[in-house]
Amino acid sequence: MAPELIDTHCHLTYDPLGSSVDAVLARAKRAGVGWCISIGTDVESSRATVALARREAMVHAAVGIHPHDARTATDDAIRAIDGLADDPRVVAIGEVGLDCYRTPATLDQQVDALHALIEIARRRNLPLLIHCRHAYDPLLAVLRHYPSPWHGLMHCASGPPEFIHAALALGFYISFAGNVTFPNAHALRALVPLVPDDRLLIETDAPFLAPQPVRGKPNEPAYIVHTAAALAQLRGVDVGTLGQLTSRNAKRLFGFTDA
Ligand SMILES: [Zn+2]
Ligand SMILES: [Zn+2]
Repeated sequence: MAPELIDTHCHLTYDPLGSSVDAVLARAKRAGVGWCISIGTDVESSRATVALARREAMVHAAVGIHPHDARTATDDAIRAIDGLADDPRVVAIGEVGLDCYRTPATLDQQVDALHALIEIARRRNLPLLIHCRHAYDPLLAVLRHYPSPWHGLMHCASGPPEFIHAALALGFYISFAGNVTFPNAHALRALVPLVPDDRLLIETDAPFLAPQPVRGKPNEPAYIVHTAAALAQLRGVDVGTLGQLTSRNAKRLFGFTDA
């Protein structure tokens, strides 16, 4: 039997996944997905994802405020995220980060929110799940305020090779999503070999970024098999080996104990 895959980043409470989550998880299980980390992007979706993780054994939760929602990161909202992280089903703080691509929040708002959420992750010793788009230098500047190594991951890898090297040097894991399968994603695919075996993770970012054979459909954790096949090919290993090493890494990062 192929080793189970762990979808380290999906939004199971977002439509259309949220309205049919039982069927979505049944399909994920059949596809060989052992666990999903469902991610909150504001207080409301973080609360919903914790509730889902309490109900479903194969779902763990991450709570955070996405850079697009940085304007909602009031002191009350930060306190609410901190409170949600008390739940034992919460395995990470995220997603958080910086995004200078078509975002409604200013960079200053995003940086303030990021510092507040970093403080929660560090105090609780939880991994930090970072979203970064077109904000690589500002993100590295924030991260370098803190001592290394970091306990966290760069989700949906992108950026120049120098950014991946810098993130690895800070201690981060690197996770690839379905966009690595897109025909024109040459620059993204070139990042895959830069990541050592013990730092590589895989995710769907469902319902977004469905991989090539199902591109355009709403993405779901079961489709991670297409991304796993693409990553295995790019690294010159079989899918079983790829599954084994990414799952081992995810269990180490999130502290799953049955590994
Ligand atoms: Zn993201
Ligand atoms: Zn996401």
